[in-house]
Amino acid sequence: MDATVSPGVVRVALDVPLRQLFDYAPTADSVPAPGMRVRVPFGRRSLVGVVLETAPASELPPQRLRCVAAVLDAAPVLDAATLDLLRWAADYYHHPIGEVLAAALPAALRAGQPALEPPRLWRTTAAGLEALAAGEPRRAPAQRALLQLLGDGLTEAQLAAQRPGWREAARQLSARGWAQRVHAPEPAPPPPQPAPAPSREQAAAVAEIAGALGRFGAFVLHGHTGSGKTEVYLRVIERALARGEGALVLVPEIGLTPQVLARFQARLAAPLAVLHSGLTPAARHAAWRRAASGEARIVLGTRSAVFTPLPRLGVIIVDEEHDASYKQQEGGFHYSARDLALVRAQRAGLPVVLGSATPCLDTLHNVALQRYRRIRLPRRPSQPEPPRIALVDLRAHATKIGLSTPVLQAMERHLHADGQVLVYLNRRGYAPTLLCTACGWTAPCRDCDARLTVHQGRRELHCHHCGAVSALPSACPTCGFPVRPVGQGTERIEESLQQIFPAYPLVRIDRDAVRGRGELQAAIERVNAGAARILVGTQMITKGHDFQNMTLVAVLNADQGLFSADFRAAERLAQTIVQVAGRAGRGTRAGEVLIQTEYPGHPLLQQLIREGYDGFAAGALAEREQARWPPFSRLAVLRASALTAQDPHEFLLQARERAGRPRGLTLLGPAPAAMPRRAARHHAQLLIESRSRAALHGFLGQWLPQLAQLPAARAVRWALDVDPIELF
Ligand SMILES: [Zn+2]
Ligand SMILES: [Zn+2]
Repeated sequence: MDATVSPGVVRVALDVPLRQLFDYAPTADSVPAPGMRVRVPFGRRSLVGVVLETAPASELPPQRLRCVAAVLDAAPVLDAATLDLLRWAADYYHHPIGEVLAAALPAALRAGQPALEPPRLWRTTAAGLEALAAGEPRRAPAQRALLQLLGDGLTEAQLAAQRPGWREAARQLSARGWAQRVHAPEPAPPPPQPAPAPSREQAAAVAEIAGALGRFGAFVLHGHTGSGKTEVYLRVIERALARGEGALVLVPEIGLTPQVLARFQARLAAPLAVLHSGLTPAARHAAWRRAASGEARIVLGTRSAVFTPLPRLGVIIVDEEHDASYKQQEGGFHYSARDLALVRAQRAGLPVVLGSATPCLDTLHNVALQRYRRIRLPRRPSQPEPPRIALVDLRAHATKIGLSTPVLQAMERHLHADGQVLVYLNRRGYAPTLLCTACGWTAPCRDCDARLTVHQGRRELHCHHCGAVSALPSACPTCGFPVRPVGQGTERIEESLQQIFPAYPLVRIDRDAVRGRGELQAAIERVNAGAARILVGTQMITKGHDFQNMTLVAVLNADQGLFSADFRAAERLAQTIVQVAGRAGRGTRAGEVLIQTEYPGHPLLQQLIREGYDGFAAGALAEREQARWPPFSRLAVLRASALTAQDPHEFLLQARERAGRPRGLTLLGPAPAAMPRRAARHHAQLLIESRSRAALHGFLGQWLPQLAQLPAARAVRWALDVDPIELF
């Protein structure tokens, strides 16, 4: 191969943990454009990468410059705007660009499969129908069976699932003119349903946001559950569609129910693509293709959908913007889809809407700085008064397996008056501890600094941190005495309530009782149809589900977030309480909310109850300012883990030494994580704090590339988290 005659080089991003692009000489016949995929040799391997740039020449010596093996696309799979966003994200999160691109592309594209080809359909021809009627093909049962199966058409994926080895029979049918392969027609969206008349406030919100179409603007749509935020989204999207533009709608990971999807589909006269983590790779690829090709005008999706290319995007909506699932916590690339939605809108010059009943404190700070414009959506006149919230002092009242007398009495009253009751406890399983009363043994996880949770129904012990499962012992392994579960989880609350209120059917919603979107939807429908009168649930029930007749909400344990080392714990607790309380009094009746606590005098709880979320937020922001926590400073955390406790500590110590004394920055640590041993690994962290975003990122940009060379780096896994939302 002679690189000197080629027109230049292409710079390729590869899914490898190296912070650089790789130069390749283009093939003789074509120079791939930025955004196209190529197959290239890398060491002894062959990898699929994305071209990010072309350049006149490489700094590599010509003999080391290798050649692109194949250009996989005729047109870019990632448009300029998406590439721009991905490069921004790689810079900001200080993460290798190749891994950032890998997070954005469906697995099928990363594997080098054709990108934009629509799905193919096989169907019977008229001649095929005649042949079938005449009893043909007589001697080829496989062909005959396939011909009978095809009918109006099946996609190749469907065929592969139903008839392994179908391809040979299809080829023969095609050769005889009895079957043909065609483009699958896209089902036309049903005619849109008429929209309800908007309230004056909804109409004003729509006018203001839609007035910003075509330029950047950040709007915070702040309204209680049930105040009609979705109606505002739908009308803004209609206005964008009328301009020939599309919309990107982000929802939290478990907020995307068939209910939500059906509402969007019923109202909007435009093809819609759905992207979430529950899709099969093929379905994900198909949805991505429809979005990227411009066939789908609206994308409704969870976190990673923020990277979907969408030609003529007009508006971005982030529903429940406070939700923690927008932050990627797994793997090495810790991005915030909410923050990237803002960046995307700003760089593309279009409006972005952040909707929530409990906007996150960072968002409210941006409102105060007038970077974002807040639009409040008040309660509609048809809605009941806000629920009455009261604290139940657990020190003053007797409890029966975690349920205090006032809560049980209120339940009785509401159930008797035909109401429905929601019991919230953010702890799944039967009991958080298995205890031997004779010797004090508690069942520990072998691999974590944590106790195992009792799952009575399955007769198992589960670790909620590493996923370990073991059989439930009936006797103490050290002394042989009987053991018993201590404390309450949702499974035990369900059991107790069934004993106390045997006449009222109950449904439990948590990750053990409800698996997948379909089961969740069925459980919600049982509640709304009145088939269940008591609902016991975890965090899962707080995410945007509508319950029509819920009159009482009981929060069983509010204390988990009150004394946490994590500065965001109080904010999360307040959001949870407001979100759970928002389920009460949804129909026409006013609701009642009872919060069990051992600390009824805690200033946070008091502020939240007396002044609502706004009052709480003002107080919490003032505290953050004093303590110099975000949003009044910028944080990054370097986390490391290894099989020994010394290795991560040593690595972080070396990293800290390498940092020297950077100006305008504070380094805190290294310190062990809140749970030092998790999944058989020891975890530690080093916190980097600065008043100045520029100072922090300037430092990270210099420091981070050096860390891989530290002597202790080989012994640890490490990752940087910029703007961490949890410190653990
Ligand atoms: Zn014992
Ligand atoms: Zn564990």
